[in-house]
Amino acid sequence: MNAAGPVAPSGPRILLRRLRQVMAGPGTAQERMDQLVVTIAANMVAEVCSIYLLRDGALELFATEGLKRSAIHETTLRVGEGLVGQIAQLARPVALSEARSHPNFAARPETGEEDYHSLMGVPVLRGGRVVGVLVLQNRTNRSYSNDEVEVMQTIAMVLAEMVGGALQEEIPGAGVLGADGLPRRIAGLALNEGLARGVAVLHEPRIVVEQHVADDIDVEAARLNTAVAELRIQVDGMLQAAIAEPGGESRDILETYRMFAHDKGWMARMHEAVQSGLTAEAAVERVQVENRARMSEIGDAYLRERLHDLEDLSNRLMRHLTVSGGQMADDDLPDQAVVVAWNMGPAELLDYDVGRVKALVLEEGSPTSHVAIVARALQIPVIGRLDQLLDIVESGDDLVVDGDNGQLFVRPGTDALEAFGANLELRQAKAAQYAALRDQPAVSKDGTRIQLNLNAGLLADLPHLDETGADGIGLYRTELHFMVRATLPTVSVQTEFYSRVLDQARGRPVLFRTLDVGGDKMLPYLTRYDDEQNPAMGWRAIRLSLDRPVLLRMQIRALLKAAADRPLAIMFPMIAEVSEFRAARGLLEREVERQHRMGEVGPSSLQVGTMLEVPSLAWQLGALLPMVDFVSIGSNDLMQFLFASDRGNPRLANRYDELSPAALSIVRDIVRRCSAAGVPVSLCGEAAGRPIDAMALIGLGLRSISMRAASIGAVKMMVRSLDLAALQAFMEDFYDSPEHSLREALTKFAEDHGVAI
Ligand code: PEP
Ligand code: MG
Repeated sequence: MNAAGPVAPSGPRILLRRLRQVMAGPGTAQERMDQLVVTIAANMVAEVCSIYLLRDGALELFATEGLKRSAIHETTLRVGEGLVGQIAQLARPVALSEARSHPNFAARPETGEEDYHSLMGVPVLRGGRVVGVLVLQNRTNRSYSNDEVEVMQTIAMVLAEMVGGALQEEIPGAGVLGADGLPRRIAGLALNEGLARGVAVLHEPRIVVEQHVADDIDVEAARLNTAVAELRIQVDGMLQAAIAEPGGESRDILETYRMFAHDKGWMARMHEAVQSGLTAEAAVERVQVENRARMSEIGDAYLRERLHDLEDLSNRLMRHLTVSGGQMADDDLPDQAVVVAWNMGPAELLDYDVGRVKALVLEEGSPTSHVAIVARALQIPVIGRLDQLLDIVESGDDLVVDGDNGQLFVRPGTDALEAFGANLELRQAKAAQYAALRDQPAVSKDGTRIQLNLNAGLLADLPHLDETGADGIGLYRTELHFMVRATLPTVSVQTEFYSRVLDQARGRPVLFRTLDVGGDKMLPYLTRYDDEQNPAMGWRAIRLSLDRPVLLRMQIRALLKAAADRPLAIMFPMIAEVSEFRAARGLLEREVERQHRMGEVGPSSLQVGTMLEVPSLAWQLGALLPMVDFVSIGSNDLMQFLFASDRGNPRLANRYDELSPAALSIVRDIVRRCSAAGVPVSLCGEAAGRPIDAMALIGLGLRSISMRAASIGAVKMMVRSLDLAALQAFMEDFYDSPEHSLREALTKFAEDHGVAI
């Protein structure tokens, strides 16, 4: 109990029952709401109790005890405006003993609220979405206790029940966000390029709890127990299936699920909510809301993912309690579906009939999130970090996804649809041009053949070889296979995987890069080191592999086995000095010897090379080149370390250019040295996929480049329209230029010489 203001003296259970009586009583919805605020104010010992509900996109004062009644239906606040708007925006309670000194405080003089100092407000949530705000105010500097905030949250849930029912019939549009059905544009983070239009499919169908106050608490407690028991059986069953079927839904995740399903704290919190007078569903929702609030405060991505598991588990529990909330069957999935989710794992995406999924939009999500990696391989456009996505989008909404610019158009208007149509036509026309070139070689106008290879990392990438007519795979990022799994793949799982990659490449060369993990690409089953100040320059890639050689040896063993009488090419990431290459190659040779000893069939030929992506290695080419079979320049990392410029920092994205004299000079020098030594050299960074950049790279001497599948067509078209001799002459004295970038000059060259860029 708090000295400044007691928790509802009659106890939450009695208060809930009283509120229920008011709600079920006679009168209009407005009259009942007017009574509710009086009852709540009295029980919570507050001078003011107000209800704000969303209408036409704004928070409108619907009922008040204590503020001026003339302000009812007159005072409105935008979501995000003032403290009430902030509560709605963040879907989180606020309790302040001196509200007026808070930077977000926005006084509304017509309400007469200037006499009140303290304020406590909680969001009114329906189906997990904010529909309003319930507020208490006191004249004194009252400190509201956590218990009081919790009681208010429970009251808000009961209120939400009324908002969904009678009130909407009486006052249409009350308590509905986006009820106007107006077009909305939400800006997010582009996680995978592409353009798509489709019907919104909510990944987790929203479950709206229809009854919050329990008729019989014992019955509700028993219902909760039964549902939890069913949930535990379900999770155990999933776990058994995962153990029996390697590669099925991941075992580690399910172990975590099982741990949560038996978590005493979680159970206790739900039972406590039932004891306060809620139904079992309402209790699950109540605890889920608390978890979400905790989740949004956690910065650590790994821990957030774990709380996401708990969220998933709560949803499953809710489905055991309701019959309405089942998972959508594939038959119900529209042909043009845009999946809308808070976040999801890679396995969850693959559970859909991916042929029908045209795009994925997430409220969370990051470029390194596993689902984004998988979606990239499937060429599904993805946008992440879409603020309030789940509040704004309704199931069945028409959505236009612009994955190039990170823009989502909800219920698009004619303007957005016209722009979408025009863009789509342009893309389709280009795609048709590229498709026509598929079987044509990438040869310049003056007869130089350029090898165009693919960057890949998952089995889903392999079909792109045929689709694009690429020469082979110039970079196979093996870590992606490790990252989308929850457990370390065994040698036999890896062997099978690599052998499928080689099968599907059907004789075209594949350059496997050994694990580039660590830093920010941490595997869930590897010990984490959170103390690294610069993870990109930290304990990653070959550094980690040499310190934990078992991981690398297992991988090499699997690669050697998978090749079985086929050519094999392996390279190591982040080699900074020759001795690291020598150590890695030594390890590989020991595995080759072991394979001989075991009498296994080895590769028909073995090429061992290195990525050149740490600048220091460029000054050791004399010692390095005699030891390697090939070199692949990783321009993404090479540029980040050359310019000391974080490749993931959007503020630096345009600061230094890969077409600057320094960047072009270092690449040219490496290419020259490799060519003089007769060592094949290629480049596999993002630059290779941009036609103008690719043109410059070819101009400085590269004859092999590797890029994303989506870039092959455009780059091939550029090559086939290029007079290479003219370009080389043009670039002759580029390297001593004092300019920031030579991009403009190169673009002018392309325009003047009819190069398709
Ligand atoms: C690079 O650094 O250029 C590269 C291709 O490797 P990654 O992008 O995987 O770091
Ligand atoms: Mg790299």
